[in-house]
Amino acid sequence: MKVPAALKGLPIDHLGIAVKDIAAASLPYQLIGLPMAGEDEVVSSQHVKVRALQAGDSLLELLEPTSSESPIASFIEKRGEGLHHVALRVEKLEAEIARLEAEGAQFISTEPRAGRAGTRVVFLHPKWAKGVLIELVEH
Ligand code: ZN
Repeated sequence: MKVPAALKGLPIDHLGIAVKDIAAASLPYQLIGLPMAGEDEVVSSQHVKVRALQAGDSLLELLEPTSSESPIASFIEKRGEGLHHVALRVEKLEAEIARLEAEGAQFISTEPRAGRAGTRVVFLHPKWAKGVLIELVEH
C-alpha cells in the first residue's frame, strides 16, 4: 500500500463538533483558551453555521444546523451533540480520492463540495472507517 508523500502523515485540519447553539457551545473552549478563528460562516452545502476555534495548527469547528435538512441536525437527533468528524488536510483532493478509491475506500460522495473558508471537501463513509466520519480538506 502506498503511503502519502510526507512521512509525518496528513495533518488534522479540524475536528467537527455537532452542537445545537454555537454561541453557547463555544464558551467552554474559549475559557480553556481557544480563540475564535475568523468570523462565523454559513456553509450552505451542509446547511450549517460554523464557528472555528484555533487550537494550535488545527481548528475545532462548531457546527450548528441551519435547517432540518442538515446532516448535523439528524446527527444530533440520533446521537446528541458531540464529536462529528475528523478532517485531514490534503494537497490535491482529486488525486487523493482516486488513490483511496483504488485502495477500496468508500466515500459518502466523491464529488467535492464547498467547505468553510473556500475549502473543498469530501467525506469518507463512517462504516468504512470503523465508525469515524473522515473528511478530506483541500485549501
Ligand atoms: Zn469539517
